[in-house]
Amino acid sequence: MSTQPVLPAFAQPWEAPDDVRITRVRAIATAPEGIPLLVVKVETSDDGLYGLGCATFTQRWKAVAAYVEEHLARLVVGRYPGDIEDLIRLARFSSYWREGPVGNNAISGLDQALWDIAGKRAGRPVHELLGGKVRAAADTYLHAAGATVAETLDHAERLREQGLRHIRLQTGQAGTGHYGAPALPSTASDYAYADGWDVEEYLRRTPELFAAARDRLGPDIALLHDVHSRLTPKQAVVLARSLEAYRLFFLEDVVAPEHWDRLPEVRAASPVPLAVGELTTSLTDAARLVLGGGVDFIRSHISGIGGLTAARKIAAAAELVGVRTAWHAPGDTSPIGAAANVALDVTSPAFGIQEGHVYADAVHEVFPGTLRIERGWLRPHETPGWGIDLDETAAARYPAGLAGHDAWAARVRGRDGALIAP
Ligand code: MG
Repeated sequence: MSTQPVLPAFAQPWEAPDDVRITRVRAIATAPEGIPLLVVKVETSDDGLYGLGCATFTQRWKAVAAYVEEHLARLVVGRYPGDIEDLIRLARFSSYWREGPVGNNAISGLDQALWDIAGKRAGRPVHELLGGKVRAAADTYLHAAGATVAETLDHAERLREQGLRHIRLQTGQAGTGHYGAPALPSTASDYAYADGWDVEEYLRRTPELFAAARDRLGPDIALLHDVHSRLTPKQAVVLARSLEAYRLFFLEDVVAPEHWDRLPEVRAASPVPLAVGELTTSLTDAARLVLGGGVDFIRSHISGIGGLTAARKIAAAAELVGVRTAWHAPGDTSPIGAAANVALDVTSPAFGIQEGHVYADAVHEVFPGTLRIERGWLRPHETPGWGIDLDETAAARYPAGLAGHDAWAARVRGRDGALIAP
């Protein structure tokens, strides 16, 4: 008869340094701006010690919430919260299939919550646990958008007055619009689908936007543009070449993820820097982009690829091959995820730029401590962990729904009526 004690399947196979243990893992959904955000709260046996992580996959938040509470909790409750790398590998490998977005969003939330706990236990901000600052603040860009070129540039002027040095420009088009650039009515009469998007018109109009922007805003402001994955590789080359004279800081998501293998040829055909990666869904996916020679900026959703533990590896790989970071962070990233971005921004030599979002007052009410952009700069808190809390009573005042963002993602159709990849 064996005297070997039987180890519960997911117990740590080494001595924990103290008796703090994970006691509860919950997923909390809230939509203070109307966009469903999902936060993972990891509670511990240490009275009042908990961590928060962003698991936001706004189009499928209910599936992520179930993944967290039905699957991840049973793996990690009872474990020592300081074994972050082991817990994340356990969460990742235990599903066997592991590269999908739902699981990796759930794991991201768990991971960021464990880093928050680690910071709180150390009494230090997370960026210090990552090795400390290499810069004082993260330079950010915001989105300027409008129905017309003039409206877009009015918006850009207002952002410049607020201190922004980097601005993304988007103008409304027939058939598609986002982030304040409305979808315009089509003037064409011969479309099979009256509200269709016309790629040829887009390829013609976009250089006109940037020509007007350089005329009005001058040479000093850094300009960016997001294609939203709607071009073929050849069309991407046509667009990039037509924008060369306007010296973009980057051109984002020129092709859909299904065609990322073709990015190196697009990148080789034009000096316009390419930013790609908000649709990466795993560490592996993001690593292939960084190491594949097709991107100048990697912009994964840190709350989608496996959390800070995954993203810091991507930042390290980027540093080694001369790629820069531009982490995804519009309104479908919670303030916790935004803080994780900034922790990496100020600690990584590979930092390029940070996407910013000016959160509504309701978000500040739900997430006390939400970071604010000041004259274009983001700075992390110097308090333990993320320095950001979640007011659950306030969160409940803004219940998450199912109506919005998935409809947005599936809205664009061509002039013949065929769906076009977002
Ligand atoms: Mg984008």
